[in-house]
Amino acid sequence: MIPAAFEYEKVTTVDEAIAALSNDDTKILAGGHSLIPAMKLRLSRPAKLVDIGGIAALKDLKEEDGEIVIGAAATHADIMYHNLIRTHLPFFTEGASMIGDVQVRNHGTIGGSLAHADPAADWPALVLAADATIEVRGSDGSRRIKATDFFTGLFTTRLGPNEIITAVRIPKPADGAKSTYQKFPQPASRFALVGCAVIRFADGSTNIAFTGVAENAFRDSGAEQALAGKPVNEEHITAAVNAALQNVDVLGDHYASIPYRTHLAKVFLRKALWAVK
Ligand SMILES: Cc1cc2nc3c(=O)[nH]c(=O)nc-3n(C[C@H](O)[C@H](O)[C@H](O)COP(=O)(O)OP(=O)(O)OC[C@H]3O[C@@H](n4cnc5c(N)ncnc54)[C@H](O)[C@@H]3O)c2cc1C
Repeated sequence: MIPAAFEYEKVTTVDEAIAALSNDDTKILAGGHSLIPAMKLRLSRPAKLVDIGGIAALKDLKEEDGEIVIGAAATHADIMYHNLIRTHLPFFTEGASMIGDVQVRNHGTIGGSLAHADPAADWPALVLAADATIEVRGSDGSRRIKATDFFTGLFTTRLGPNEIITAVRIPKPADGAKSTYQKFPQPASRFALVGCAVIRFADGSTNIAFTGVAENAFRDSGAEQALAGKPVNEEHITAAVNAALQNVDVLGDHYASIPYRTHLAKVFLRKALWAVK
């Protein structure tokens, strides 16, 4: 449980971080709560770590041009306790409060979670349901990637090798939106065996995203369409639950078999939809 030797550099600007990433085998260190365990198990052996924890600009959380903008190095706890989030994105408050334990929430960051793309992590489902855009920067400048395009598979994303996530931008939901995050946690780690994020808008549209269910978090368009423009009641909730998980390769592992995880996902979708009724 001791990592291989590595160099360490603490940077204070995004430009310094990007310059350091031009060396092969260098990795960003944010909260360290996914990377360090992987290094201790020797699943990851970077030659150098670039610590972005000292970049103040990456911790900003603000409202800008009709969007809520969360800096990539904001911790789960920073997000959970922020009034802007509590007011406009209450399911982010709810989701953040369910991540790991106090220590994990105080150190782990939203950017680290999205970059790591653990299939059982909570933020991927939340940012998908919120229709977020991930802002990234590399040596060629900045670009924005829709959350719906960001996650490509098990622990993989569209992030380039020399790019850093700088912020997550979420359109501020219109008045009347209701949201929830329902999670069945693995009892020891608290990672999601199933997590379901739902936001229901006053115009009758609903965004539904799952984590923990497949190789990567995803929006469930079948369930969303079954509810589009319909009232959230027993009949239409059942229709959405029946329409969910079409063409999804549900994961089976030693915690949950495929039929059990499928069942759990549908139960948690039902709970989520009742919560936004
Ligand atoms: C005991 C325990 C329980 C946990 N329970 C949960 C849980 O219930 N739910 C959950 O979602 N997570 C859980 N986690 C994971 C935790 O949330 C991590 O903190 C998070 O997944 C990674 O964030 P980090 O800031 O620690 O990233 P790090 O560990 O520092 O980095 C993770 C990866 O992301 C890269 N990276 C980090 N920041 C950036 C950036 N800005 N741009 C580009 N790449 C970047 C790193 O290079 C590395 O590859 C748990 C972890 C532990 C140890």
